[in-house]
Amino acid sequence: MEDYPESQKHLARPYRKAVLKALLGLTFVGGLLFFTLNINKQNYPLAFAELVMAMYAMAVYRAVRNTQHLERWILAYTLPFFTTMMFSLVSPHATASVFAWVLSIPILAHLLMGRRLGLIISAFYMACAALIFYFKYRHSAEMMQPLPIANISVMSLTVLAFSHIYEITREQSETRLLKIAQTDSLTGLANRVRLNAVFEQERARCLRHGTPMSVLLLDLDHFKQVNDRFGHEAGDLALKQVSKILRQTLRATDLPTRLGGEEFVVLLTDTAADKALQVADKLRLAIEASPALYQDQPILLTVSGGIAQFGTDGHDLRSLISRADQSLYQAKDDGRNRILVAGTAPAHCPG
Ligand code: GH3
Ligand code: MG
Ligand code: MG
Repeated sequence: MEDYPESQKHLARPYRKAVLKALLGLTFVGGLLFFTLNINKQNYPLAFAELVMAMYAMAVYRAVRNTQHLERWILAYTLPFFTTMMFSLVSPHATASVFAWVLSIPILAHLLMGRRLGLIISAFYMACAALIFYFKYRHSAEMMQPLPIANISVMSLTVLAFSHIYEITREQSETRLLKIAQTDSLTGLANRVRLNAVFEQERARCLRHGTPMSVLLLDLDHFKQVNDRFGHEAGDLALKQVSKILRQTLRATDLPTRLGGEEFVVLLTDTAADKALQVADKLRLAIEASPALYQDQPILLTVSGGIAQFGTDGHDLRSLISRADQSLYQAKDDGRNRILVAGTAPAHCPG
């Protein structure tokens, strides 16, 4: 479970919403201003389009405040916005200075839609603007000079390139930060933040498809003695060794996480408690069979665990971990190096 796209989409949302709201506010004010100016110039079709855009901006502003569908609203606003811009360029009353607005397209498209869609939308509308420019001014010797055309073209491509590069690097650093925030720095396993996020996704999937899901809580046995005997550095090495075994033994769809200290949680998707017990015992035996080596001394490790199944033992992560912890406590009490299941779980998800 190495992807972060879902979380990233949520992360970009507040900032895209802020950009959209700023754009809506500006187009409302700008729309009214250009409506008045175009009325004075008796350019009624364009004045009417500006007024409609201003009213639409106000309506969208109200709609996006609490929306769950920001991406749709962004498209529902920017496409008519850019199309109105093209309409302004075509207008015989508009001066050549209106083409300066085209430079805002790559910036807005990338800020609002990300690098891929931003590039597609920018390229489409900028190509439209170039065609409009050509057909409008192809008979004007003054406008068809190589120097102004080169200036406009290079400037437009520069803004497009920088907007695209900016969005790529922004998305990359966002992914990097997101990964750091969701990773345990000692072991490189996912941490509690990522566990919560993935659990919420998997819970929705489990409820939708009726598939089972289990939570396995593991705790190293007598780990304090490892630190006391070999030192803290050796203890850290042992924690890394256990993490490596978890990563190697589990399926790619399972999520091993370090909860903190010497406690680990494994989220087992599509797995009922009886199957989870088999997986957990496999892990337990692998940990027992692979001592960590510290300065050529083997550190013998064993682990105890508890299993809880989604639905049967709880519907949220906190109660599932709490149920698994009761079984873990029992496993410690029964002599350690064992895994116990919380109650008897049926092999389907009751939701
Ligand atoms: P039990 O079998 O009952 O679980 O005994 P235990 O000794 O493992 O349990 P206890 O909770 O008493 O001790 C846990 C120890 O884990 C205490 C602490 O020194 C050690 N520990 C917690 N986090 C880390 C860590 O990041 N690095 C190292 N080296 N040790 C840690
Ligand atoms: Mg512990
Ligand atoms: Mg322990």
